[in-house]
Amino acid sequence: MKPIAIIGSGLAGYTVAREFRKLDKTTPLLIITGDDGGFYSKPMLSNAFAMGKQPQQLQSKTADQMAAELTATILTKTLVSGINTVAHTIHTKMGDFEYAQLVLAPGAQAIRLPIAGSAADQVLSVNNLTDYAVFRDKLAQAGDKARVTILGAGLIGCEFSDDLASAGHEVTLIDPNTLPLAALAPTAISQGLHAALNAKGVQLKLGTTASQIDMLDNTLQVTLSNGESFNTDVVLSAVGLRADIRLAQAAQLHTDRGIIINEYGQTSVPEIFALGDCAQYKQADGSQSLMPYVAPIMTAARAIALSLTGQLTSIDMKPAAVLVKTPSYPVALIPPAFAASKSGRWESGHAEGVTTSRYFDESNNLHGFAVAPQDAKSRNALIAELIEAQATRLN
Ligand SMILES: Cc1cc2nc3c(=O)[nH]c(=O)nc-3n(C[C@H](O)[C@H](O)[C@H](O)COP(=O)(O)OP(=O)(O)OC[C@H]3O[C@@H](n4cnc5c(N)ncnc54)[C@H](O)[C@@H]3O)c2cc1C
Repeated sequence: MKPIAIIGSGLAGYTVAREFRKLDKTTPLLIITGDDGGFYSKPMLSNAFAMGKQPQQLQSKTADQMAAELTATILTKTLVSGINTVAHTIHTKMGDFEYAQLVLAPGAQAIRLPIAGSAADQVLSVNNLTDYAVFRDKLAQAGDKARVTILGAGLIGCEFSDDLASAGHEVTLIDPNTLPLAALAPTAISQGLHAALNAKGVQLKLGTTASQIDMLDNTLQVTLSNGESFNTDVVLSAVGLRADIRLAQAAQLHTDRGIIINEYGQTSVPEIFALGDCAQYKQADGSQSLMPYVAPIMTAARAIALSLTGQLTSIDMKPAAVLVKTPSYPVALIPPAFAASKSGRWESGHAEGVTTSRYFDESNNLHGFAVAPQDAKSRNALIAELIEAQATRLN
């Protein structure tokens, strides 16, 4: 019997495998992954200090334990280099493997900024546990009060800044926007986060970028586009991720910014599914968007697992808040979908120390929100409001 094959052992690959095994105990499962196949929760990477965790404590299961739990064959350290959609085979350096159905979950790749200078290659990025272990080693070499420069004040850059500052490191956060979290959050929330990070000791250098990084006297020197320069021990790039569409493109599946999938999670070849950071999901309004978060993976994995058993099931994407893990100023938000975000406006209010912003389109329909400092009660009330607004709009 040909197996169901999964490419990738991140949250997406393993969650679909787990969901499938709940429904089908016998069909062979083959998981092929470029890394060591250990299971870890990626969101923990940006708040590991707050949780008092060393990198090696973040992996909860080895590949062998996952293979036993899932009754699966797991090929680790094995990169898939091609897919033959006609012959239904996957090409690797270990040989070719047949599949009955295939799930693509290769994630995303860190975007590298074009930076000049003799030490531009010293810039680190963290998109998996191995990257994180390298980063922690560099920090340890620099001592208890390492000078860390973070490029990019988006969600991940802000989370790392807060976490590292809490651990006593000297953090400088750089972004071309004039406020942190500018691409996701309304101004009122970004201002609150700016103040909280400042109070924590994070130095924010905004409205500028790092143009050059050099090694001078064994220390990294960062030069900004505004001409300023300063010394640092470690530079971490958190400027974003790009969906990994290379295998899909080579196999001539339909791609855009991600691998395009329909409401069932199928790519343009029906027996090939995709989910996770690589996928561009179909939204309720017909638009397509990347959703590089955990909640969409959970929802998509349940539907795709059912579809893999032959029961074609649509992905019922419910509104789920993105939680920004900045304990100094915890934010929850649901950004408006791309189509709505072109023509709408944020409206913000402040009561009892909490800032709440709602995003309305031209017809005053609610499409998103942000709240900080957030808690379960405040975000659940806003999610309920959003669900009600969506239901009203669709009726
Ligand atoms: C620091 C950080 C903090 C985050 N915090 C949050 C958070 O708080 N909340 C939230 O919702 N989301 C968060 N996210 C996002 C979330 O973690 C990701 O959306 C999710 O983990 C992506 O899972 P994935 O399986 O799609 O990709 P990945 O975890 O990247 O897995 C990809 C897998 O594919 C394998 N692979 C790639 N190419 C090949 C190939 N050619 N052949 C074989 N194998 C291959 C890789 O080895 C890997 O096993 C965070 C992300 C980061 C980086």
